[in-house]
Amino acid sequence: MPPVAFHKGAFVPLEQATIGVMTHAFHYGTAVFEGVRGNWNEQEERLFIFRMREHYERLLEGCKVLHIQLPYSLDELCTITVEMVERCGYTQDIYIRPIAYKSEERVATLNLTPLKNDFTVLAIPFGAYLNVEAAARCCTSSWRRMEDTVIPPSVKISGLYVNSILAKTEAVAAGFDEAILLNQQGYVSEGTGENLFLVRKGKVVTPPLEDNILPGITRDTVITLAKNELGIETVERHLRRADLYLADELFLTGTAAHLTAVGSVDNHPLGDGQMGPLTRKLQNLYFDVIRGRSPRYLHWCTSAAPKLVSA
Ligand code: PMP
Repeated sequence: MPPVAFHKGAFVPLEQATIGVMTHAFHYGTAVFEGVRGNWNEQEERLFIFRMREHYERLLEGCKVLHIQLPYSLDELCTITVEMVERCGYTQDIYIRPIAYKSEERVATLNLTPLKNDFTVLAIPFGAYLNVEAAARCCTSSWRRMEDTVIPPSVKISGLYVNSILAKTEAVAAGFDEAILLNQQGYVSEGTGENLFLVRKGKVVTPPLEDNILPGITRDTVITLAKNELGIETVERHLRRADLYLADELFLTGTAAHLTAVGSVDNHPLGDGQMGPLTRKLQNLYFDVIRGRSPRYLHWCTSAAPKLVSA
């Protein structure tokens, strides 16, 4: 079945979902996006879209920041997305990309308020982003995480991602899998597309929101699972660079990255350099939850069954 997108108010074949070269968002990054996963459940022959509502809540927060008024409610955005996914007919893991953007074809203006808005959502087949079986090799980036006083990092504004892209590109060119960014105060913030957790002496610690992190939905999922399933309270506190080197375990969380262990930072091995035992436990719990295999957390999953119709 050819994939479809919801674009400019209608379901169209994905290759016809295009924008003009004068589009404001193309020139200035004036868009807000989300990354949502649909996880294929082989037994049930359906996809489970994970925490879609929370992703759209965050998207709508970003829209407020960028003065984007959409003609769709939160419920309508969810309904459109399920229909788009079902029409695509994928029978494998997918990545769903909604994007709300300044669609006006007008380049020489920096005042957002009079500009027209639009919304597109599409899906692509998507396997692993980082290798979840291995332990990633990370470096501390020479780039700093964007400050809230420059562009709010708590929502996914497209232009902001140049910060992550510079850090990721530098890290990969230097032979690492992922970069960890510090903020201007020198505290650990997050990965280029992931939040960060460390385990030390049985305690689970993660940077607080004020360290310029994105309030990750996977982060919240892991905090909830650690508490409900393992009785572990996550501590939110500032972390310094050396805290990373001294961790017993370190892992990254994100919709794309899932829950990925970190084996070394700046070539300092952590523990034995492999995935740690608590990381493994949380990863197993997490994978069951996102595939709709944990009855207790089914309310986080929206089921989408592939439709046998074309667009
Ligand atoms: N931080 C950044 C900068 C990200 O882009 C992402 C991915 N959305 C995350 C953290 C993780 O967020 P989530 O778990 O909601 O995907």
